[in-house]
Amino acid sequence: MKTTRRDLLGVMAATMAAPALTVGAASSQQRARASEEAQRPDGANTVAILNDTHIAEGHADDHVHPRNLRLAIDGILALTPRPAAVVINGDLAMSVGTPGDYRRFRELIEPLRRELPLHLTLGNHDTREEFLRAFPELTSASQLREHRHTGILDLPHVRLALLDSLKETPAAPGRLGADQIRWMLEQADAVGQNKPFVCISHHNPRVGGDAVHFPGGIEDTEAFWPELVARPQCKAFFHGHVHDWTLGMHTGIHVVNTMASAMVADTRLSTNGWTLARFAPEGVELEIHTYQADHAWNGERKWLFWRQPRV
Ligand SMILES: [Zn+2]
Repeated sequence: MKTTRRDLLGVMAATMAAPALTVGAASSQQRARASEEAQRPDGANTVAILNDTHIAEGHADDHVHPRNLRLAIDGILALTPRPAAVVINGDLAMSVGTPGDYRRFRELIEPLRRELPLHLTLGNHDTREEFLRAFPELTSASQLREHRHTGILDLPHVRLALLDSLKETPAAPGRLGADQIRWMLEQADAVGQNKPFVCISHHNPRVGGDAVHFPGGIEDTEAFWPELVARPQCKAFFHGHVHDWTLGMHTGIHVVNTMASAMVADTRLSTNGWTLARFAPEGVELEIHTYQADHAWNGERKWLFWRQPRV
């Protein structure tokens, strides 16, 4: 892959749009190295992220939700190189996570599961018990007193902690809970300060991004955010749930709101699709794939540079 003018503009736009990026801003040398690392030909540091697929048992084959999910799967499987893994980040089911919804979802994602490591998280339109019944072979990375479906994805340049923020179906707010927070911080501590650590949950933290979405976000954000800030290896928090694509930052940590696979509030302002994240030691490059091929965001790339450890 060559560096195109759009890539350079993307770097410039990201730097200009967020003055906070000057905290730990990367030198041009670091940028060049990061770009090289992210474009390693083997895809070992690349993850495809979808969220809010909202699949229902009763959807006809040509309904837009299953159609969008199939488009994402086709797009991901056509990538060269293939990503190391795919994360579908919650609200897998349409409304209240019925057995039929998960049966349908399972059928739809089968072509993807056959080809690539696939990780699923839960959102407020999922039902944990029904999800676990539908996917009995999926194990959780944590063993908490109250079961949570979590995952750890270790790539050469990043450790991703996949969190379970489902509190109550289908009420909007999410929660991690003290046990899961402790587990998450243990996962961050285990990598030490030299490997970037990134959290992914369906729900948004109540920091960064647009405060209008905070009431529906993770209600115990205050219990863990300062702990993430205190650990320099914690670089970013990815979430869905908001059904839009926006970038935020709070206390040096990026808050990445990835676009939904199904439904947006206003099609004039946003759209549906999925996100490719290429991790490098110094940051991540995001590449947007919209289902509407001629959408202005399709193919857009953004570079986010990690905050640097204090010395
Ligand atoms: Zn949703």
